[in-house]
Amino acid sequence: MSWREIQAWHAHEGNEIIGVFESDGQQGLTSAEAEKRLQEVGPNSITGQRGISPVKRFMLQFCNPLVYVLLVAGTITMLMPGHLVDASVIFGVVLVNAIVGFVQESRAKAAIEALNKLVSLDANVVRDGHPRRIDAAHLVPGDVVQLQSGDRVPADLRLLHLRDLQINESMLTGESLSVNKERETLAEDMSLADRKNMAYSGTLVTYGQTTGIVVATGNRTELGRISHLLESVTEIATPLTRRLSRFSILLSWIIIGVAAFTFALGMWRGGYSLPAYVAGLFSGEPAITEIFGNTFISAVALAVAAIPEGLPAAVTIILAIGVSRMAKRNAIIRKLPAVETLGSTAVICSDKTGTLTKNEMTVARIITAKARYRVTGVGYQPKGELLREATTATIENTAQHGTNRDGGFYPSDAPAQVAPGDAIPVVVENSGALQQCIHCGVLCNNSRLVHNDGIWLVEGDPTEGALLTSATKGGFEPTRVCAEYPTLDTIPFESERQYMATLHRLPEGGTMIYMKGAVERVLALCDTALTEEGATVPIDRETLTELADMLAAEGLRVLTFARKPATAEQLALHQDNLNGGMTFLGFQGMIDPPRPEAIAAVRACQHAGIIVKMITGDHALTARTIARKIGIIGDEGSVLTGNELTSISDEELSAIVENTHVFARVAPEHKLRLVRALQAHDYVVAMTGDGVNDAPALRQADIGVAMGITGTEVSKDAADMILTDDNFASIEAAVEEGRGVYENLRKFITWTLPTSAGEGMLVLTAILLALPVIPIQPVQILWINLTTAVALGMMLAFEPKEKGLMQQLPRDPKEPLLTPILLWRTAYVSVLMVIGAYALFMWKIENDDTEKLVAQTIASSVVVMVELTYLFNTRSLTRSILSVGFFSNPWAIFGAGMMILLQLAFVYLPFMNKLFNTRPIPLIAWLEIAAIAIAIHIIVEIEKWLRRLHAKSQTPNQPAVTR
Ligand code: ATP
Repeated sequence: MSWREIQAWHAHEGNEIIGVFESDGQQGLTSAEAEKRLQEVGPNSITGQRGISPVKRFMLQFCNPLVYVLLVAGTITMLMPGHLVDASVIFGVVLVNAIVGFVQESRAKAAIEALNKLVSLDANVVRDGHPRRIDAAHLVPGDVVQLQSGDRVPADLRLLHLRDLQINESMLTGESLSVNKERETLAEDMSLADRKNMAYSGTLVTYGQTTGIVVATGNRTELGRISHLLESVTEIATPLTRRLSRFSILLSWIIIGVAAFTFALGMWRGGYSLPAYVAGLFSGEPAITEIFGNTFISAVALAVAAIPEGLPAAVTIILAIGVSRMAKRNAIIRKLPAVETLGSTAVICSDKTGTLTKNEMTVARIITAKARYRVTGVGYQPKGELLREATTATIENTAQHGTNRDGGFYPSDAPAQVAPGDAIPVVVENSGALQQCIHCGVLCNNSRLVHNDGIWLVEGDPTEGALLTSATKGGFEPTRVCAEYPTLDTIPFESERQYMATLHRLPEGGTMIYMKGAVERVLALCDTALTEEGATVPIDRETLTELADMLAAEGLRVLTFARKPATAEQLALHQDNLNGGMTFLGFQGMIDPPRPEAIAAVRACQHAGIIVKMITGDHALTARTIARKIGIIGDEGSVLTGNELTSISDEELSAIVENTHVFARVAPEHKLRLVRALQAHDYVVAMTGDGVNDAPALRQADIGVAMGITGTEVSKDAADMILTDDNFASIEAAVEEGRGVYENLRKFITWTLPTSAGEGMLVLTAILLALPVIPIQPVQILWINLTTAVALGMMLAFEPKEKGLMQQLPRDPKEPLLTPILLWRTAYVSVLMVIGAYALFMWKIENDDTEKLVAQTIASSVVVMVELTYLFNTRSLTRSILSVGFFSNPWAIFGAGMMILLQLAFVYLPFMNKLFNTRPIPLIAWLEIAAIAIAIHIIVEIEKWLRRLHAKSQTPNQPAVTR
């Protein structure tokens, strides 16, 4: 039977399936066969039509009450004689807004979807008899795949072996609890949710380990079959965009109300009664249709000009640009709201290992019950020496007996005059504590060292890689040791357990359990210790704990090694085997240097008013030393351990959580408590995590941060942001970008509100004051509104980050977007704009004898030029444009250039003159227009300068804190 014909994989024996695929449960497929199958069946990725079609998305842009109002207004305008151009411009506004909205939305979607591709999935597969880590897209049917807790299942698998396996299949079955898996063959009619011997692509391993054979890849997986149901709707709305849309809808209705009122007022001023108007309109009475037409179009112009139509779309694009900028700095945003929350992050809780430190481990010290050793060299390169440290006892021995008498571990030609701490070369004795400690490190190990282009790298856990290097330095060949002591069973390391254990067959017969893990955890299980001579003596736990503390206080990561004979026939490890009775072999202490960039990033955060806390599974003393080196705490800083956390109440925790910055030996459930305690103090909390059980804390945090390299798929699934380089500095970078995004949003709003309000006020005042000649015609306002929004306002989305962003305090998340400063500026800039346009218009008409149409063209150019110079004001909300750099946003220059060209066309091109009733204006008028625009620009700059002075006087000794 061919594998293509089988449907019910769960109803077949594992071995039968291996046979059908011509695979091998131990050796896997050969690379050649896998390559052949890949050509045949294609990559393991789900393809197909997903998402809403572009046409539908474009049409959806019109589904908006505001657009309906505009369409109705446009239609009425079109029906009125002589208002075809006005109607076309209104329809133009609708169309251009839809196009801009569509393009922006598409770009935002594309940017966010592209990020998903950056986070690709790897799989552990056995090929040619060796475990390998490959891109999951290259899996083929018949591949043997190994999974452990935290992994995402990369294809549909029939399970062959498993240990305590639990898988969360909610994405497939909707069941939120993880299900226990088994390997037994099942009846054919089992439903998907009951197929316990299968693991389905896309689901998450939440506990245990398994080996399975791939039975389906890509679109042939269960996930592939239902992928049309899982249509990836990239959510581009965030609380902020929703708030802003609600705000602009509310504003729109208010403006429409005002417009309706002005319409009624205009009609009333026309002097006819309602029945007369109705009759006149039906009979086409010219006077009445003219009054109606002019009043109506003015009211529509008022509404169109004053409503900030582009606001929601602009906000989305600003957020999307923020997402791309963060991705360039190694922070992948998974949930868009995180972009805005990042800017107000007040506390960052970070893991230590790999995030604040390099996770490049080097064993530097080995301590057994009776001797101390130093290991030289750095990195994974097995170059260095294992040296024994002379202690008072060994020196006394030498003095008394002339030679070394405490086991013969260093050669008799060792210097006769040694002082405590001196290093002496070592010869490792068989079956002694040192040899067994090193063996244990090699055997209880899932990593591999690879030598690539002269560089030694670890495949797997760096902590374990370091043990292979130290073994080689001591003269052991890890592969030989592993061959001599075949592994029968493994319990891999998990943070919650804090140990790893393996079961081995001994060359001399019998079996042995080896175990390594955290000091407190493993020492507690030991009641004897091995000496250098290979004797077993009662354990002196107190002294050993002191020695371990000594290593930890040096900032070393300490692992404890122990062993225990197993019963001869035992082939599997059980928890009961690990309850005690172990023999202590030794400690290995490893250096994990802090990342220099993390030190700088922590400092930057502290300058930015962000509190950095270290939350680590490591030893309290190690944590404290590293935290000091990194600058998280000073000499006085204290450490709270997981045990202490468990013993205190929520109230007690609440009292100390703000001022405690290092938490050690912390379990994932503590992380959740810490996040909650900090949030209760109203902090916006970012929390890192990598393990399966970190997921609840990542979800609870305002910004859950998962590790891209070492993080489990479960943690990535729960996170808002993924760091592609696992580096703390990338969190700081993302926060900085988040602040930049928020600033750009505020800049856009600061530009758009006064300009929209000013345009609206121009029309409104003309109607309210019942001026005989209005300074700007409605159709001209419509044109200005359309062109300036696209050519000027949009350019603020591309504004680069300002310097000094990280010298301000975190933004209060409750701070309203419309601050009093913003409202005040909206008021005075719009008033100044209206006064400028009116004043020049009146002056031209009265003193210069300028023709009305020319004066109107001049007034509309005032509006455009004020909006243009004001754009450069808003490029920084606080700093002067000179310190921001006039050319630092090329888009603003480009937009301004475009706007000037459009305005020249508006003023000088004959067909534009015809369409918009404009007239060419003399050169001198441009100078007057420029004078007004520059004057308003200078006024706003003076206002910013006064505010800066005020801020400085408030905080004389601090960097410019603007809030
Ligand atoms: P962080 O939470 O900052 O990443 P961490 O990586 O040090 O801290 P864990 O990985 O939970 O935290 O490690 C906790 C302890 O478990 C370590 O101090 C160490 O003693 C022990 N340990 C770490 N890795 C292993 C391993 N591979 N095998 C056995 N024990 C380990």
